[in-house]
Amino acid sequence: MIIAIDGPAGSGKSTIAKMLADRLSLVFLNTGSFYRALTLALLRASGGAHDGRGGDIDIQNEAFIADFASSLDFDYRNGHVCIADEDVDILLRSDAVEACVAQVSAIVAVRHIINNKIRKLSETLSLVCEGRDMTTVVFPDAQYKFYLDASVDARAKRRYNQGTSELSLEQIRQKIEERDQIDRNKKEGSLKIARDAVYLDTSDLTITEVCDMMISKIH
Ligand code: C5P
Repeated sequence: MIIAIDGPAGSGKSTIAKMLADRLSLVFLNTGSFYRALTLALLRASGGAHDGRGGDIDIQNEAFIADFASSLDFDYRNGHVCIADEDVDILLRSDAVEACVAQVSAIVAVRHIINNKIRKLSETLSLVCEGRDMTTVVFPDAQYKFYLDASVDARAKRRYNQGTSELSLEQIRQKIEERDQIDRNKKEGSLKIARDAVYLDTSDLTITEVCDMMISKIH
């Protein structure tokens, strides 16, 4: 079984999808983590530190990035992404990764590589997966589809409160708007609301309230 969830950055997708997966005894898959892990590896390979800081990805060199992605040894284990057996989960929300992940994920060849990985996982696992194109491209025939939305202000506040960024609330807000712009205008896999997805605005709802609403829709 596949429960597919899409929505913009900071709409609460990951936390909600994880809670939903726990409550329904399914496996939670945060597909943005794959794009983040690839971005981290590219930053490191281009002179960046352990958390990617200082790396400089040549985003125009799509052939190199696609080759790099197809040979990268990365995997999803127990809810965490590993690069060659190193659990990198804790580094995936660094400002360095946050600054370039949307551009890396806009490369069509990269999307194909990561989509194949996600579909492969679904062959053996029942998933609650969240991302930008789960309901539209990766699993258009998923049994259950949701689109979680929230205002830019609510999303910026949530990211700020996570405490993983050194940026101010206003800077985070700007970055979210920039990322929305890229995510909505990708050549392939752009963020949009599937016609048959249940739309929920989570701005004024708690995680538990959203999860309850989704479970009641599923039932
Ligand atoms: O969901 P999260 O913010 O962790 O995703 C990081 C980035 O990866 C997003 O900004 C988006 O550009 C990209 N992404 C994507 N397709 C997905 C999941 C994430 O393009 N299915």
